[in-house]
Amino acid sequence: MAQVSLRDVSKVYKGDVRAVDKINLGIENKEFMVLVGPSGCGKSTTLRMIAGLEEISEGKIWIGDRLVNDIPAKDRDIAMVFQNYALYPHMTVFENMSFGLKLRKYPKEEIERRVHEAAEILGIKKFLTRRPKQLSGGERQRVALGRAIVRKPMVFLLDEPLSNLDAKRRVQMRTEIHKLRLRLQTTFIYVTHDQTEAMTLGDRICVMNDGKIQQCADPMTIYDKPANKFVASFIGSPPINIMTGKIIKKERKYYFDEGKFQVKLVEDMYKAIAPYEGKEVFFGVRAEDIYDKLFVTEASPENTIRAACEVVEPLGSEVYLYLNSGKNTFVARVGAHNKPDVNRDMDLVIDMGKVHFFDQQTEATII
Ligand code: ADP
Repeated sequence: MAQVSLRDVSKVYKGDVRAVDKINLGIENKEFMVLVGPSGCGKSTTLRMIAGLEEISEGKIWIGDRLVNDIPAKDRDIAMVFQNYALYPHMTVFENMSFGLKLRKYPKEEIERRVHEAAEILGIKKFLTRRPKQLSGGERQRVALGRAIVRKPMVFLLDEPLSNLDAKRRVQMRTEIHKLRLRLQTTFIYVTHDQTEAMTLGDRICVMNDGKIQQCADPMTIYDKPANKFVASFIGSPPINIMTGKIIKKERKYYFDEGKFQVKLVEDMYKAIAPYEGKEVFFGVRAEDIYDKLFVTEASPENTIRAACEVVEPLGSEVYLYLNSGKNTFVARVGAHNKPDVNRDMDLVIDMGKVHFFDQQTEATII
């Protein structure tokens, strides 16, 4: 069993830099966990502590049922794939992949068997006699993965493995990693700053910021029920629109008053929003939950707003509208058939069942 658990784990670098701050995380056996967050949030440091490449300042880490705090990296039964691949330039692909097994004194036949098996899985059999410089970036990344696979570790640790690839290769390799994962049936911990990678690969996503876990849940929970404004803004493309305004109550109904427009909350939200009556809040609405009124049948004045359309960006399958209410700017993602005029006011309908509200002090989710 290869579950990994972190209890109250911190990393304090010299000069009192708290890179990781008391994190608690449990990764299940065979789970694909993604650590995601902006640069400097402590993802790599967390992974490196699990790997044994970085000393743990406080807290405890278990791999399987072994407390590994004092176990050196080589004895942790993990394999790590790095962003820069870390291949030996003077060795062939075969030698690169077999190096770790040789060091561990595996029999020659076993090494041959494992390298060929991994090369087969990754489609790199024909490159076994080449050196890294004779390979493309994507091929090198496969070799780096191959070197990890031959070890048959309990846990795979991957640190931004796709970030050196161009956009097209990255998407290809993402699906490859997905397939690999299904085939290997083992535990993966994957670090990335790319929210799309996190959403598409993770069974669960752990969103980090400032050395702390902001939320850890499955991708759709993270997207639909973000724990706070940070998570809501970090996950999703284009990022969720955040507007400022006030909650008001009229005739027993609650409204969000942006200054230039008012929209009515759905009744399910009344209980949670009641303490905020008369207060400023952040209003969050995703681009896909705003529609051009021309194409909506169930619009009412209570969910319709007016805004100037400043830019129209056709992307083929959809169109981005960049809008300005006179107070806040925001983006709508609408169908390809929408062709509003630029620099004209237009009516837009907000799906009020999907919006979020965040506390202005704590930034925690209200709804
Ligand atoms: P991420 O992987 O999320 O980009 P890191 O884990 O690499 O972030 O770094 C987290 C924080 O720790 C950053 O502020 C970084 O500058 C700091 N840091 C990382 N390594 C060291 C180090 N060896 N010495 C001092 N500070 C470090």
